Amino acid sequence: MNAHGAGVGAVAEDIARLGASIFARGLTPGRTGNLSCRIGDEIVVTPTGASLGSLDPCQLAIIDLEGRPISGAQPSKEAGMHAALYRARPTARGIVHLHSTHAVAVSCLADLDERSALPPLTAYFAMRVGRLPLVPYFAPGDPALSVAVEEMAREHHAMLLANHGSVVAADDLLSAADAAEEIEETARLRLLLGDSPTRPLTSAQLGALAQRKERA
Ligand SMILES: [Zn+2]
Repeated sequence: MNAHGAGVGAVAEDIARLGASIFARGLTPGRTGNLSCRIGDEIVVTPTGASLGSLDPCQLAIIDLEGRPISGAQPSKEAGMHAALYRARPTARGIVHLHSTHAVAVSCLADLDERSALPPLTAYFAMRVGRLPLVPYFAPGDPALSVAVEEMAREHHAMLLANHGSVVAADDLLSAADAAEEIEETARLRLLLGDSPTRPLTSAQLGALAQRKERA
């Protein structure tokens, strides 16, 4: 028995619990979406073809930071994207990738601002997500998607993948899930508002929020 082994078991339980909650709330349909946690130089990630609603904590995959399988089940074909994000963000310990309906819908809109795919409509979006850039479309599992994500992740912890969904890295798995949910809710608001003129937070309001976050 070693501390590392205990760590994998604990995060596997966390991943399965969060997956069930995400699936029960309809935040990623069918067998889409994947979750991971980093422990040292290893990544515990959901397996290929799995529904987040019925994950077995004993049947997750372990990969290295290059995305190569180490042990356990066969990793999700999107696991390489998780490894790329962890390489770009050394302090990240949890990643949530969802195909949540409204975020995917926004990711399909023509003429999206690629630097900021969703406006900062609310304080929570500004605090949990910040600026949300759009990653160009690549097929899921395409190594080019990992390259694009790794490059963008050096500046951003949350991204919208064109015609695909959201991906968020954070200090822990639950914080990543909070941000992914915030993206989904803000995408829903954006679609509800349609063509109505909107009033996103001003740069002064965003600056004040950033200061409060630093003090917290
Ligand atoms: Zn995906």
